Amino acid sequence: MQLLEQRILSDGEILPGGILKVDGFLNHQMDPVLLTAMAEEFHRLFADAGVNKILTIEASGIGPACFAGLAFGCPVLFAKKNRTRNLSGEFWTSTVWSFTHNVENTILVSKKYLGRGDRVLIIDDFLANGAALDGLITLCETAGAEVAGAGICIEKAFQPGGGRIRARGVRVESLARIKSMSDGGEIEFC
Ligand code: 5GP
Repeated sequence: MQLLEQRILSDGEILPGGILKVDGFLNHQMDPVLLTAMAEEFHRLFADAGVNKILTIEASGIGPACFAGLAFGCPVLFAKKNRTRNLSGEFWTSTVWSFTHNVENTILVSKKYLGRGDRVLIIDDFLANGAALDGLITLCETAGAEVAGAGICIEKAFQPGGGRIRARGVRVESLARIKSMSDGGEIEFC
């Protein structure tokens, strides 16, 4: 998506370790005009997928997911991260390995809001190693919900997540796919 690629080039910042900082328009301050355009693109891509629910993970997926919820006219559910593991039987749970913090998080959603009969579009801001997406897909499978696909704002295609999730049979659509990033500030899209 050209608008997003242009914004990454003008406002994105490359940090050491292959991290792209997009705090000016997506991860801290958010640009509602850009988020609306991205939501419309997700809707165009998944219009015929029978989506009745959008699922994301806190915190940075919530913004794009809410805009997508408006475009699809459906509820938006976000998985909470929980490290206490002291859970009653009211939640579906799964685990996500955090490469940034070197810790395994339990993620959970209430059984009230996800289950059989749901057809879910998963939305997230980034796809890198795919741990977050793996955890969300497993959460849907545990709940008996169908995964219609995953809509990703920025995929770092030089990391293995996208390939692995697609090989798992899940349709992944990314609005910007980064082929390479250099410490000198060069970004190449696929
Ligand atoms: P994963 O490696 O599981 O695909 O990515 C997990 C999460 O890490 C994403 O949802 C995103 O919030 C964060 N993340 C991964 N790579 C980047 C990056 O380059 N920049 C930013 N801002 N967040 C990232």
